[in-house]
Amino acid sequence: MLIDITPIAEGKSKSFSFENKLKVKADLIAGIKINGDISKLGGDYTVKANATADIPFSCDKCLDPAAQSITFVIDEKFSNKESSLEEEEINLFTTNNLDLTECVLANLYLELPLQVLCKEDCKGLCRVCGVNQNETVCTCEEDNNDVDPRFAKLVGMFEPS
Ligand SMILES: [Zn+2]
Ligand SMILES: [Zn+2]
Repeated sequence: MLIDITPIAEGKSKSFSFENKLKVKADLIAGIKINGDISKLGGDYTVKANATADIPFSCDKCLDPAAQSITFVIDEKFSNKESSLEEEEINLFTTNNLDLTECVLANLYLELPLQVLCKEDCKGLCRVCGVNQNETVCTCEEDNNDVDPRFAKLVGMFEPS
């Protein structure tokens, strides 16, 4: 996501848009769309943009596809002057092409959900047989509630006689 800043004059801005695929996590490639503008003031550049990332998540509970669209904003300053760094959070750049990739990902990470579910009441996979409990009802849970035979005798001891 490179922006050529050579045509931007002091005090002016230009708009840009990108449509890219970016690696968000190990196996997660998101389709990211960005629209915004970049302005130059005092020799530094400010990027303001709206972004949407379509991420092919899997449900944390049942592993079914659970794609999500995440929208976020980007409001970042870029400078090629080392001295600017001390003042505030600024992205340093050294060429005439300003690369947005890193700051896009940094802003996206802040918006990533902690938990992804295919639906709010996803029942998940059965811990015993592994079946998707949204689709199939297994009897494992019931079986689990049965008293361990080793304790059956104990239970009998407390039964009223
Ligand atoms: Zn699920
Ligand atoms: Zn089961």
